[in-house]
Amino acid sequence: MWISATKDYTGWGRREVTNDDEEKGKAAPGSLDTMVLVPTKATIKSRPIVIRGEALEKFPWLLHAFSTRHAGNLGFTKDASPRAVERNRTSFIAGLPGKAWPLVTLRQIHSDLIHQVSDAPGHPLSGDGLITRTAGLWLAVQTADCLPVIVADRRSRAVGVFHAGWRGTVKRIVEKGVGEMRRSFGTRPKNVYAAIGPGVHDCCYQVGAEVRDRFHSQFAYAGELFRETRDSDEIHERYPLLFLTARAPGHSEEHLPKKIFLDLVEANRRQLLDAGVPETHISASPLCTVCRNDLLFSYRKEKDAAGRLMAVVGISR
Ligand SMILES: [Zn+2]
Repeated sequence: MWISATKDYTGWGRREVTNDDEEKGKAAPGSLDTMVLVPTKATIKSRPIVIRGEALEKFPWLLHAFSTRHAGNLGFTKDASPRAVERNRTSFIAGLPGKAWPLVTLRQIHSDLIHQVSDAPGHPLSGDGLITRTAGLWLAVQTADCLPVIVADRRSRAVGVFHAGWRGTVKRIVEKGVGEMRRSFGTRPKNVYAAIGPGVHDCCYQVGAEVRDRFHSQFAYAGELFRETRDSDEIHERYPLLFLTARAPGHSEEHLPKKIFLDLVEANRRQLLDAGVPETHISASPLCTVCRNDLLFSYRKEKDAAGRLMAVVGISR
């Protein structure tokens, strides 16, 4: 499903998950398929700078990339040196096929605001989505657990990039993004291809009840986006045999606090489907930013020290 797992781009190969992997915690948690990522020789030697989405690979006019932490911090975070971030951005862009195109970034505010651009604006735009049909621009969003989503219309050759954390997802930023492309460029959803980049997956995305309630108020399918466990359930799932015999009758685990996990990838995939994008046109990275903190930045894992990853998309002239 996801080309990043091929050694061409990241040096990671794939094979079937086995029981042994699960016991050792080696399985790729949250992956959308049943494959586990395994390092190839190239991984050990190289430090991948970019990951690419399979759904977007087949169009020569369409250029895109999701950065890894090996590209350095690409966001002006609180503790970052602005000069270092500028330097990282310059070398990241220089390594991409479109090279010296202007970079259009956003002051991201967890909104559903989407801007249509046809050049690099002189002032910073606030919002969480960018769309264009103009060639020679890099549209970018920055993330460190939130999902970057890149979409492209193969017919009108228009592109968009969106920043979707839980707030933006509740506000349907991706669904609205496809709608904006329809209004601006006459995009028909059946011609849209989409790649959901790396972000926090449901293995690691614990949320509060208020987040679950917000989704339930907005989406009929919200029940399918959450997984609830009590601490003992996890042990149960992992070691079922232990509980088969050792469980005392009448012993209750009801008092254990509930944990709620959100599947943000599925939430955004559903929005793309609801917007009319064919299922076969959507790919999603199996990489969780928390689990793969060696390769990606994660705010949950690194707090204020977390750098920012960048997702970029552009149209070749
Ligand atoms: Zn994870």
